[in-house]
Amino acid sequence: MDIIYRFDPDAELERVQPESGAEARTILEQGNGQFCDIVARTRAGEHTGTTLVVPCDVRLLGADPDGGSLRQEPFAAIVGCADARVPPQMIFRRMSNEMFVVRVAGNVIGSEVLASVEYALEHLSSGLRLVVVLGHSGCGAVTAAVDVYLTPLRFEEIGSTRSIRSLVDKLLLPVHAAARRLESAWGSEVTRRPGYRAALIEMAVCTNAAESALQLRRTATMLGAEKVEVAFGVYDLATQRVGLPSDDTAEARLALAPDAAGGLVPISEAVARSSAIEALLGGAPG
Ligand SMILES: [Zn+2]
Repeated sequence: MDIIYRFDPDAELERVQPESGAEARTILEQGNGQFCDIVARTRAGEHTGTTLVVPCDVRLLGADPDGGSLRQEPFAAIVGCADARVPPQMIFRRMSNEMFVVRVAGNVIGSEVLASVEYALEHLSSGLRLVVVLGHSGCGAVTAAVDVYLTPLRFEEIGSTRSIRSLVDKLLLPVHAAARRLESAWGSEVTRRPGYRAALIEMAVCTNAAESALQLRRTATMLGAEKVEVAFGVYDLATQRVGLPSDDTAEARLALAPDAAGGLVPISEAVARSSAIEALLGGAPG
């Protein structure tokens, strides 16, 4: 398959400028749906002789064809993992000047990440409509925290430097919360199931994204950016879809951030009882 980004200097710039957070969310969901479709067509062998032309304007890539430097004009800010397999612009099929992207292992909200999002909320507010926390399946940073939780004696081995220990520390809270939710949904015997570690990793990925989204929702409100939507989702490395394991749709979906801590419970309960988590655990209790 040839994917061609085509710039036509005579064409009018078609800048996407959503008026609301909901509209911005729909644009990203549709973009992820298109990305899933491209990968699915390639897998199905439909790539031979197929050409996909993506209209592109260098201004959306952040360059000014007339010289000089452009203003930043993103409509969405993304906090995603540094994982090389999870490039946000590609996953959502958007251009670089449309998304303000902050990436850090485990999409952990430390002070520098928070400051970056605060900057976007305060200084890019003319076009910014949405903030998204994007976790992903099989996250290495979350897996490290799960392994420390399951085998505390491995903390020194996994956290080989102070910086890595600090990162793992930040992820232990969502891992604890995910473990509690799994036990409340499946009973304390769940820890003995062969698939418990895998299920806990995926639960913790979702919990971490939801907790981070709650934190950013509070930050946006504190800064007077109530109208900016905050959402979260998990990118599935196997299907390329952004959503949650508990979704009852195969379409891409970004979930709205809870606006209070109590809102995290139904989200993680639904994930814990989802068929995806059940499959990882090896089926319903016998
Ligand atoms: Zn990751």
